[in-house]
Amino acid sequence: MKSTPQRLKTVWLSLRLGVRMDWESPIDSGPVPEDGSTFDVIVVGGGPGGSGAAGYMAMKGHKVLLLEKAVWPRDKTCGDAVGGKSLKHVEELGVKLTLEKTPHFRVDSIIFGGPNGKEVRIALPEDEVENREAGYSLPRRQFDTLLFQNANEKVLESGGSVIQNFSVKEVHIEDGVVKGISGVVGGESLHYSAPLTIGAGGYNCPVSRAVTAHHEEPMVDKAHYCGAFREYWTGVEGCGDWSGAIEIHFIEGVLPGYFWIFPVGDGVVNVGIGMVMTEMDKQSVKLRGLQDWVINESPKFKKRFANAKKVEKSGKGSMLPFGSPRKKPPSFQPRRVAMAGAMCIGDAASLVDPFTGEGIGNALLSAKLASTIFDLEKHKEGFTSESAEEYQVKLWDELSAELTNSYKLQRLVKKKRLMNFFIGRAVKKVELQRALTDMIASKEAQGQFHSKWWMFKTLFF
Ligand SMILES: Cc1cc2nc3c(=O)[nH]c(=O)nc-3n(C[C@H](O)[C@H](O)[C@H](O)COP(=O)(O)OP(=O)(O)OC[C@H]3O[C@@H](n4cnc5c(N)ncnc54)[C@H](O)[C@@H]3O)c2cc1C
Repeated sequence: MKSTPQRLKTVWLSLRLGVRMDWESPIDSGPVPEDGSTFDVIVVGGGPGGSGAAGYMAMKGHKVLLLEKAVWPRDKTCGDAVGGKSLKHVEELGVKLTLEKTPHFRVDSIIFGGPNGKEVRIALPEDEVENREAGYSLPRRQFDTLLFQNANEKVLESGGSVIQNFSVKEVHIEDGVVKGISGVVGGESLHYSAPLTIGAGGYNCPVSRAVTAHHEEPMVDKAHYCGAFREYWTGVEGCGDWSGAIEIHFIEGVLPGYFWIFPVGDGVVNVGIGMVMTEMDKQSVKLRGLQDWVINESPKFKKRFANAKKVEKSGKGSMLPFGSPRKKPPSFQPRRVAMAGAMCIGDAASLVDPFTGEGIGNALLSAKLASTIFDLEKHKEGFTSESAEEYQVKLWDELSAELTNSYKLQRLVKKKRLMNFFIGRAVKKVELQRALTDMIASKEAQGQFHSKWWMFKTLFF
């Protein structure tokens, strides 16, 4: 391994020039298991959710099969902000020290900007910033690789297998129970089985598709899906190099949604824009064009980008499946995420925060929850529908307060005047600042729900 200063010096060259870094080296996952092999748990997808689940399951001594369609290192379109909730799991999984040794931007505050240009800077709790527990931002290529490397190691140590470049094509269901999967690696079709399959394949996860289809519920609800576009830039005025604020701006024409500026270290900045899909359709919006307009034309931002330079070919779009409560809920919220033989986690369970867009924390939280519900003794013959329901209920119990709260804020920002008023009040009201800090920096799922009365009182008095 190169020394830290050397890595610090050269890491951004990898972004700018495509130079290979330590965490950009291939990961050796060992031999591909024989066709027809059986495991305790199959995990589909090796993002933060899948790597977290595989890590937690391996730590319990289970024989895990971790399947990932990409070959590591891989990029993931994201804003690259990693909040306090994620860091707590990163620590539990044993990755925190390694993460700290790699270059990252330390987030000490968040700037919210209103449609009228007014801004409020919310400081994250000082002791948490000091103890490196508040929030980081760093490219997902780097963050996800560290998590996957850790899962790869733990899974192999506990007798399981990991396959990269393996695309899951089919989920096998017999008599209403998921029995395993089949997929393709290097042109060869292989089939594996387990009492439990975990869907961690992101917004278009095949396990999630099977689960929602089984319950005859729609998987994609455009009112609760967000489209987003990101690019990397250098030389954006007003951004710290290795620590400082990340910025969320609510701009007319980008509501409900926001424009973000998240520094990721050494002067490199992740700049992006996101909007709820029904709204994009209604306003016939193309996100790349909208972002070009904000950067080049909007009076507030064009000055800050006047001397900035875009990192070539860094522009990418993707989707965020929100965890907001559905209007006419079926039996479960936010949608069905489990059935006999299967549980979905992270984006595959539609758990992204509808106000902040943060999804890594809930991917890791749901990974841990799934690992606590699965009991090899009890589920040897198959993960039961009762246990699937238990997961569904516990997941919503844990997340409903914060996701409902965030959804209310997302609805509020849709109204330009209300948003201006809200930011104006937040400049003066410490309670409001604390509520926003909680929402963003909290290490646990937030249990406390801010009632309408609390909101009313805090905003008006
Ligand atoms: C533009 C944008 C900005 C965002 N900004 C932030 C942010 O700043 N902070 C934050 O916390 N969250 C952010 N999010 C959300 C965050 O990216 C996700 O919530 C998070 O990545 C979810 O993790 P996951 O493991 O569930 O899914 P993913 O990270 O999507 O991982 C899924 C994995 O499954 C693999 N896979 C998919 N299909 C298959 C298959 N058929 N077979 C095998 N493998 C498969 C994929 O290759 C991938 O590696 C953002 C999202 C977007 C789109």
